[in-house]
Amino acid sequence: MSLPPQDDGAAAPPNPGRRGFIGRAGVAGAVGAVGAVGAAGVINAVGSGAAQAAAPARRQRPRTAGVDYDVIVLGGGFAGVTAARDSMKNGYATLLLEARNRLGGRTFTSEFAGHPIELGGTWIHWTQPFVWSEVQRYALEVDETPTGSVQPGAELRVLVDGRCEVLNRPEQLGPAVAAINQLFATAQRYWERPYDSAYQWNDILKADPLSAAQALQEMTLTPLQRVVAEAYAAGLSHGPIEQVSFLEINRWWALPGGSMTALHDSCGRYRFKHGTVSLIRKMVDDGRPEVRLASPVKSVEEQRNRVVVTTVAGQRFSAAAVIVALPMNVVQQVQFTPALDPLVAEAGRERHAGTGIKLMVRVKGQLTRTRITAVAPATHPLPFVGTYAVADDHTILVVFGPDQKRINYTDRAAVQRALRDYFPDAVVEDLQFHPWSDDPYSRGTWCNYKPGWFGKYVAHFQKDRGRVFFGQGDHGEGWRGFIDGAIGAGGAAALRVKTKLG
Ligand SMILES: Cc1cc2nc3c(=O)[nH]c(=O)nc-3n(C[C@H](O)[C@H](O)[C@H](O)COP(=O)(O)OP(=O)(O)OC[C@H]3O[C@@H](n4cnc5c(N)ncnc54)[C@H](O)[C@@H]3O)c2cc1C
Repeated sequence: MSLPPQDDGAAAPPNPGRRGFIGRAGVAGAVGAVGAVGAAGVINAVGSGAAQAAAPARRQRPRTAGVDYDVIVLGGGFAGVTAARDSMKNGYATLLLEARNRLGGRTFTSEFAGHPIELGGTWIHWTQPFVWSEVQRYALEVDETPTGSVQPGAELRVLVDGRCEVLNRPEQLGPAVAAINQLFATAQRYWERPYDSAYQWNDILKADPLSAAQALQEMTLTPLQRVVAEAYAAGLSHGPIEQVSFLEINRWWALPGGSMTALHDSCGRYRFKHGTVSLIRKMVDDGRPEVRLASPVKSVEEQRNRVVVTTVAGQRFSAAAVIVALPMNVVQQVQFTPALDPLVAEAGRERHAGTGIKLMVRVKGQLTRTRITAVAPATHPLPFVGTYAVADDHTILVVFGPDQKRINYTDRAAVQRALRDYFPDAVVEDLQFHPWSDDPYSRGTWCNYKPGWFGKYVAHFQKDRGRVFFGQGDHGEGWRGFIDGAIGAGGAAALRVKTKLG
């Protein structure tokens, strides 16, 4: 049944895979090779672009009579790849349909100035149970990012009242840490059990309407502390702080254990040595599902004993069960029969709060220290910056902006001007990004709910119906909106399918 990806892609709309959408500005040069898993199971090595043979899809007859597959998985991010691997391991003939010409979704391993980088999801930690069990299971190597630390030797630069304060002695860092502690002082009230929102549901509902910006207004902070607290709120939200639920950033704090070190370590320090694509590759090799790239799904129709999935190109496949592993901002674009829950569709149209930009920036020379985090008021176009890699003649910065409309992020000079607020002599040589919020297959970055969403939408998310199962990483408890949450959601959906199909 498997077709080469270009056959499927020919009839598909413009594909936002690595050619169409990866962005680069500044010094001319080809985009670094990225990891991609082909429909026939061929994987390109990250960085080198050399093709490596991988295990071909395991051809399997469906156990269910009268269908093409037992299980069809929609979407090849971590949620979908996990669901497809697990469904194969559960003994089901499984097809994975992915719109782009690569797997990985909102993770995207690339190369920049000779460094392996991630344009999307990057950091992982052992407090994240699902991804860490995969790291252990496949013996994957982990690397460190210098910025992700408030250890001795780290430097925090804070843009306050128009000047840049450089804090690098423990006694200077104290007020900044106190600001973060104050920001999250109430986290325990909502998230004593971050995997069980029902446990403190009444408190959650009370705080539900509150945005991070409103919560910050209530706090008594020095000007420097306010900048630090705002920048962390903006960095975690990846959207304007007026548009993110205060509960959400508290969840980030509670999950790894509630300290600034734990927050940095879990969300900005450890990454896959060989890229997120190394885990995608292991999972595909292990499960060997049939994968069709460049195959955006147009409709899902549940019939009496089967589900029929139709792609934009008009291909039709039937299965005993379907697992939906699409981003929440995109799922409403697929036509479901019976119709999608109207509130799920409404949330998708409204979009979650994560709509900012992540830039990888090469600046000339070395900075004063290896480990630098630089922050600014949430109104700054790029309020959260960290060192990502250091070489003899350049430094790679990872830069987050909450609102991609605030800066022309494709303009090297504009980015340089913004970064000079922290590093007055910075010379930006090159930059790279993926515009996730403009990409029709994600329409956003990482998922954080907006104010009011817990009461309004949560009961509607992730509700299976008949033979259609929802295993989206943007929903669920715990590390939702992370790689970990996606793996957890995909695996749980595969298990529910097993219970249904027997
Ligand atoms: C800039 C950025 C930084 C991040 N940083 C981190 C981090 O450091 N650590 C961390 O843990 N997480 C991070 N995340 C979040 C993490 O990457 C995501 O939460 C996770 O990868 C989501 O996985 P998923 O499978 O749920 O969704 P996705 O990865 O979005 O996968 C969904 C798939 O569905 C496909 N699709 C869409 N429409 C269709 C269709 N019609 N038909 C078929 N397929 C379709 C998409 O192409 C995509 O491949 C970050 C995300 C971004 C964008």
